[in-house]
Amino acid sequence: MKPELPPVDRLGLSAEALRAVFPFHFAFAPDLSIRQFGPTLKKLLPDLDAGRPVGDYLRVVTPSIPFEFSAIEQQSFTVFFLESLDKRFKLKGQMLRTEEGGDARILFLGSPVVREMSSVSGIGLTLKDFAIHDSAVDFLILLQTKTNTINDVKGMADRLKKEVAERREAQKELQRANEELEDRVRQRTEELQIANGELQNEIGERRRAEEQVRETNGQLKAMVRRLEAHNQQMHLLNTMGDMLQACRSVAETHHVIAESLAKLFPEENGSLALLDDDSGDFRVVATWGEAHDQVGAAFTREDCWGLRRARVHEQGCDSLESACAHIPRQVHPPGCQYVCVPLSTQGNFHGLLHLHGVPAQDAADPDYVNVRRQLIHSASEAISLSIANLKLQENLRQQSIRDALTGLYNRRYMEESLAQELSRADRARRPCSVIMLDVDHFKRFNDTYGHQAGDALLRGLGSFLRSHVRGEDIPCRYGGEEFILILGGADAAGAAHRAEQIRAGVEQEFKVPFEGGFLPQVTISLGVATYPQHACGASDVVKAADAALYRSKKDGRNRVTVSSGSLEKD
Ligand code: GH3
Ligand code: MG
Ligand code: MG
Repeated sequence: MKPELPPVDRLGLSAEALRAVFPFHFAFAPDLSIRQFGPTLKKLLPDLDAGRPVGDYLRVVTPSIPFEFSAIEQQSFTVFFLESLDKRFKLKGQMLRTEEGGDARILFLGSPVVREMSSVSGIGLTLKDFAIHDSAVDFLILLQTKTNTINDVKGMADRLKKEVAERREAQKELQRANEELEDRVRQRTEELQIANGELQNEIGERRRAEEQVRETNGQLKAMVRRLEAHNQQMHLLNTMGDMLQACRSVAETHHVIAESLAKLFPEENGSLALLDDDSGDFRVVATWGEAHDQVGAAFTREDCWGLRRARVHEQGCDSLESACAHIPRQVHPPGCQYVCVPLSTQGNFHGLLHLHGVPAQDAADPDYVNVRRQLIHSASEAISLSIANLKLQENLRQQSIRDALTGLYNRRYMEESLAQELSRADRARRPCSVIMLDVDHFKRFNDTYGHQAGDALLRGLGSFLRSHVRGEDIPCRYGGEEFILILGGADAAGAAHRAEQIRAGVEQEFKVPFEGGFLPQVTISLGVATYPQHACGASDVVKAADAALYRSKKDGRNRVTVSSGSLEKD
């Protein structure tokens, strides 16, 4: 037995059935207020509420019947087209008069006007939102006209069921096709995503590889640049070493060092200070860069952290308060750094190399810093060694040509120099004179005041003579208390005049401090001989001067005698 449709008002449809079969239906009362509505219509019009006028949401498009209860009631068989006020969608359906609990209503049964699938999704619906209702509408119309037999109704119901089944099948098919399509699209999308990911990876790897090549290239270039710079520095160092080796005196090295270091450290200024053996101070002997006015400046070992600590001292110039005291502040621009390198041999400090400047761009690069340190080390080693060697040579030479007591040249040096002076005199066709002098009664002096007082007197006489001859004259200790002065270019009269000045000087102003007092006055006797006037060779001119000195002694001492040309003491 088939169950009968539940008798809900004249149409025999429950609200539940209406909702299932007509998801877009709605009913309104004579005052046009909405009384019920299908679930999908609510989806399309989310603010749809029972009780509000239907005209708030929809208007009739065709036919042109006003939205009035009585007017619509007359048109039950007309197909109505309704449109949402915002024109997002249209509905097509029929209006049926109905009654509920004795109240008249109009029921709209319809569906959206759908031209293509995209327009369905365009208004936010899926296929599921569609119900099969066209036949249902027919069925209901038949019911309302009441002109049908039960068989007609049954046939209609069967047709409806069949159509519903077919449509459902078609819907399912469509949904399957759709899902399949979606699956394929999803699969293809995934494949594309994977391919895209791989491509991105490959691009990334290629970029990284390119980056690496660029980086390696940059490193190689930097290395080549550094090697070139290193080569150049080695060349400069070698050249400086060669030149230093060829230097004859420490003074000659100053220029070589300044020029070489200016090239080796082009961005820095610097100075070289050497220990002054007499004062014990360090004196600036060479500068390069901008520190020209420093030459001659002196400082003590205490003024330099490097010398104090006997090690290389590096410091930034920002904190000049703690900087070495020997550094003149005005030559240090802000942000500069300086380094003090003590020069020493066998633990004895004999100099200080000082460099200062604003750090180069790659000063933070440890390689650069190491190379620079190594370079400073090598340069300072070469400088230190050559200066120490030259100083040693100079000392030895001085020792070999100087008399230890008086500091004057010794007899051997005198003999060599005299020979040279005479040949120079020959070449220049000018005279050369020799003054020989001897302290009067020196034996007695020694005997009276002691040997030490005698030594002090000789030492004092040495400095007196040194300060009373011209730079080109050569004062020597000939032996004992006898001295010789070689006056290149001086004739007999000039030499005699000088001899007399010296004699008078000793007699009148020569004072030697000794043991808190002064030694007693002494006098000297002098003999003058001139080449080629009085003698024709070095030993002869000395003999002639000696003979003249002998004459001075004989004539009463404290006097000057010019040679008569005779070599014999009579
Ligand atoms: P004269 O006026 O004739 O020259 O008399 P003299 O006493 O100076 O002459 P003499 O040659 O007899 O004496 C020279 C003295 O000089 C003898 C020696 O003791 C002294 N004498 C030589 N060398 C030194 C020295 O290095 N130190 C000291 N203190 N005395 C010296
Ligand atoms: Mg003598
Ligand atoms: Mg004497």
